[in-house]
Amino acid sequence: MSEASRDLGFMRLAIDQAHNAWAVGEVPVGALVVRDGRVIATGYNHPIGTHDPTAHAEIRAMRAAAALIGNYRLVECDLYVTLEPCAMCAGAIQHARIRRLVFGAPDPKTGACGSVIDLFADSRLNHHTEVTGGVSTEECARLLRDFFVERRHRESPRAPEPESRPDMEPPSTDGIEARFDPD
Ligand SMILES: [Zn+2]
Repeated sequence: MSEASRDLGFMRLAIDQAHNAWAVGEVPVGALVVRDGRVIATGYNHPIGTHDPTAHAEIRAMRAAAALIGNYRLVECDLYVTLEPCAMCAGAIQHARIRRLVFGAPDPKTGACGSVIDLFADSRLNHHTEVTGGVSTEECARLLRDFFVERRHRESPRAPEPESRPDMEPPSTDGIEARFDPD
């Protein structure tokens, strides 16, 4: 199996994790840690319900993986996540020495893998992690858009349909900023 098709398969599982976040009312972002071609840990975004500002999908997946293998260094492990990691998660990924990071949708508001800043581009910070973005981008972004549209409708049921704006057509990630300011 090619690396590209393997990435698509794992990203599909990360998207399943994002649905778990949606199911508990959190912004749908999902992640998983893969070692030796097998998923060893999963995580979904859950900061509101856990009262934990660090409870992003990536952090939760890496915590579970580290506990499982008994090592804070996730050597030979790859991380898949549906949304471009923020600076906090990018830092944690580097501390964990993740071998390869694969993400789906770019995050133009807080993305730290090239969208706002690129914490992986500086070799003084990053010696270990190879980064691949743009895997299942449209599906990952659509999930986020659908979530925010649904939430807007729920919070103001009489509000009119949001107007379609040409500059906000896919692959826009309109509304992702609410991930960090959900109220
Ligand atoms: Zn994060």
